[in-house]
Amino acid sequence: MTLPPDKEVSFKDSVNLSFDLARATLDIPEGMAQYIRNVKDVYQVRFPIKIDGEIETFIGWRAVHSDHKLPVKGGIRFSPMVNQDEVEALSALMTYKCALVDVPFGGSKGGLLIDPQKYDRDTMERITRRFAFELIQKDYISSSTNVPAPDMGTGQREMAWIVSTYASYKPDDIDRLACVTGKPVSMGGIDGRVEATGRGVVFGLREFFRHPDDVKRAKLEGTLEGKRVIIQGLGNVGYYTAKILEEEDGAKIVGILEYDGALMNPDGLNVEEVYQHKIANGGVKGYPRATYVEDSMSMLEEECDILIPAAMEGVIHQGNASRIKTKLVAEAANGPVTFAAEVIMREKGIANIPDVYLNAGGVIVSYFEWIKNLSHIRFGRINRRWEEGKNEMLLQAIEGAGHQVPKDLAARILQGSGEIDLVRSGLDDSMRKAWQEIRQRFWSHDNIESYRIAAMSIAIEKVCTSYNTMGVYP
Ligand code: GLU
Repeated sequence: MTLPPDKEVSFKDSVNLSFDLARATLDIPEGMAQYIRNVKDVYQVRFPIKIDGEIETFIGWRAVHSDHKLPVKGGIRFSPMVNQDEVEALSALMTYKCALVDVPFGGSKGGLLIDPQKYDRDTMERITRRFAFELIQKDYISSSTNVPAPDMGTGQREMAWIVSTYASYKPDDIDRLACVTGKPVSMGGIDGRVEATGRGVVFGLREFFRHPDDVKRAKLEGTLEGKRVIIQGLGNVGYYTAKILEEEDGAKIVGILEYDGALMNPDGLNVEEVYQHKIANGGVKGYPRATYVEDSMSMLEEECDILIPAAMEGVIHQGNASRIKTKLVAEAANGPVTFAAEVIMREKGIANIPDVYLNAGGVIVSYFEWIKNLSHIRFGRINRRWEEGKNEMLLQAIEGAGHQVPKDLAARILQGSGEIDLVRSGLDDSMRKAWQEIRQRFWSHDNIESYRIAAMSIAIEKVCTSYNTMGVYP
């Protein structure tokens, strides 16, 4: 079924249209499908904060899309554009994302309508703590039922304030550190959470390139090496995605889009240098080793092999989709391609790796962080030196049998696994397994037209199985 791309709909409707297409490929009772599709509950709160002697009122939301598994999970977004529709759409994506990659959480999302640039650090701390308090009071933050994380406009700093607020209200919750993920490591965070979404995007792309049928469908060949990549947004997700692709996979980052303009260099940009320039100057303008284009969004339409929207929703829409010239869109952000745009691009033969899969790295590593908090011990603490002892014995046995192991290989064999190694390994495994399921579903069903619908149908099926198993029948 292909819906005509004649009308742009809201973000939430866009997600729901994909749901409807995916659900049509499954044998699920209508009542159950409706229950899964819609947001379970959403809390809206207003609270006052005194800033420079004046009272300012803030408005925020936390939506729970599905609690078929607890806790529910999903970031908190601070943005001057956030609204209830967006928070609900994002909470639905969290449900499908977690189900797809076998992370045992329901879906949730929060948002605070605020421009974080407008306030100093102390004021941001007061606002964040108050918002957290409002959510804690109504059980929208809790280590066992609802666990937020960073999203656009929030990061480790905000998560630290949230966990400290929670700990002061619930000191008797022995698992209090697990009330939020994405914390600084010094406050119960986990190594590798900051890079997780970007690294997950790269793991997803690597797995895509391991399957010749998928690569051919995107009219590409070979590996990531030398592929021309344009990336939109050098925030947390975009930065790590671009940096890892450049430094570890040999891809050429030929374009970077930021809010103040875009940079282009057909020989490849040095991501770290551009990032440092952005930090020092507040934008990419003035970076010397590239052509600067003021109309940032026009760069989305440049020719390349892989286009990675890594900033926000709705950037590829009905208005520009027909001019997109990439071969593969890799959705690192949530909802960057509207439903209508995807239909247009599919007709042009552009392949799309959907957000619901590709940016799941963040929540996968959040899951590891939550487990770490519940077990009250760092991964690798118990087994690392034991492993190293075993490895040493193995090496001695090999060398004792007369085989000389090269020094650098020996050093690698000797090394036991630390937290970062285990986190990356778990993330890689989750991304590989999920892609294999998606492509299997896609290639074996004639009525599934895109990887997104394949991914969504798997997710819906898993949520449905949970409800059926726990005894909720339509
Ligand atoms: N905000 C991230 C996302 O959209 C991470 C959510 C989480 O870790 O709970 O996937």
